[in-house]
Amino acid sequence: MPIDLRSDTVTRPTPEMLAAMASAEVGDDVFGDDPTVIRLEKLAASLLDKEAGIFVPSGTQSNLCALLTHCQRGDEYLVGQSAHVYLFEGGGGAVFGGIQPQPIDQEEDGTLDLEKLASLVKPDNFHYARTRLLCLENTTWGKVLPMEYLAKARQFADEHGLALHLDGARILNAAIALGKPAADIAKPFDSVSLCLSKGLGAPVGSVLVGSADFIKQAKRWRKMLGGGMRQSGLLAAAGIHALENHVERLAEDHQNASLLAEGLAALEHIQVDPVQTNMVFATIDDAKLPALLDHLKRQKILAAGYTGEKVRLVTHLGITAVDIETALAAFAEGLA
Ligand SMILES: *Cc1c(COP(=O)(O)O)cnc(C)c1O
Repeated sequence: MPIDLRSDTVTRPTPEMLAAMASAEVGDDVFGDDPTVIRLEKLAASLLDKEAGIFVPSGTQSNLCALLTHCQRGDEYLVGQSAHVYLFEGGGGAVFGGIQPQPIDQEEDGTLDLEKLASLVKPDNFHYARTRLLCLENTTWGKVLPMEYLAKARQFADEHGLALHLDGARILNAAIALGKPAADIAKPFDSVSLCLSKGLGAPVGSVLVGSADFIKQAKRWRKMLGGGMRQSGLLAAAGIHALENHVERLAEDHQNASLLAEGLAALEHIQVDPVQTNMVFATIDDAKLPALLDHLKRQKILAAGYTGEKVRLVTHLGITAVDIETALAAFAEGLA
C-alpha cells in the first residue's frame, strides 16, 4: 500500500464503517423516507446547531446548492481568490445560476480583509450586479480562521445586507484545532457545508445545513442538479459512523502533520509553512525537486503538487505515525 499524502479524500472505509453501511435501514430518499439519511441530516444539523440539513453527493454540489439558494441570476458573491468554491468547482455558480463571483486575495491567515471587501460591495444601481453573499472557507488551505474574525464577518454581512455561507468542508478540523464545539464556528453563518468524505473517512458525501426554509429550497436545487439519490441510507450510514467515531481522532491527524512538518523543516533544501491542522505545504529547492519526486514515487509515497513549486502533504485516517517516519526517511534520502 502506498503512503498516500495527496489528500484526506483518499481514505478507505474502515471495517466498522462498512458494517454500519451493510446493516443500514434504507428507504427512498427522493420520496423522503430513507430513515438513515434523515438521521444523518438531523445529526449534522444538531452538531452545527442549525434547523435542518440535506445530504448531498459531494462538497461541490453542497456549495453549489448553497449559492443557488442564496443568490438569483445577476447576483454576485464575495469569495477568496483561492477558495475551493471559486477556484476548484468549475465556476458552477456562474454556469448554473448566472451568479457572478467577486474574488479577492486572501490574507496570510486565510481571512478576507473586510475593508477591502466593503469597497467591493456594489452600490444599489442598475449598472452593477447585486452583491448578495459572502463565502468563507474554514479550514482554508489548512488554516483555521480566528473566531473573532467570524464574528466580524457576521457584522459585516449584516451591515451590507449579505447572507453568509461557510464552506466548512473541514469545519471539524477547525473545531478540533481550536478545542471548540463546531456549532460555535457555525453560529455566525446562515449556511454551512461539511464534507464527510475528507478526514472523517466516509466514502462519499457532504451535508449542507441552514434554516428549515433554506434547506427546503436547497432540496429543489439538489434534485435539479441530479443529487436526489434513492437508497442513499447506505452512504448516510457511513457519514453517521464518521460523525460518531472519527471526529475526536482528527487530533491524531493534526499531530501527525506537525510531526511531518517538524521533520521536514529539519532537512535541507526544503521550507515548510506553519501547520495548524492536517495539511503541510512545503517549498522544495528547484534543483532538488525532480530527484525528490522521483525518489518518493519509487518509495510509493504520494504527494500532490499545488501552487508552483509547493508540495502538499495531507494526513488522515489512513496515515499512522509510523507512515510519517517512513515518509520523512524518504524525503531525507530524496533531498540528500
Ligand atoms: C473537497 C472540498 C470541497 C468539495 O468537495 P468534493 O466532495 O470534492 O466536491 C469543497 N471545499 C473544500 C474546502 C474542499 O476541500
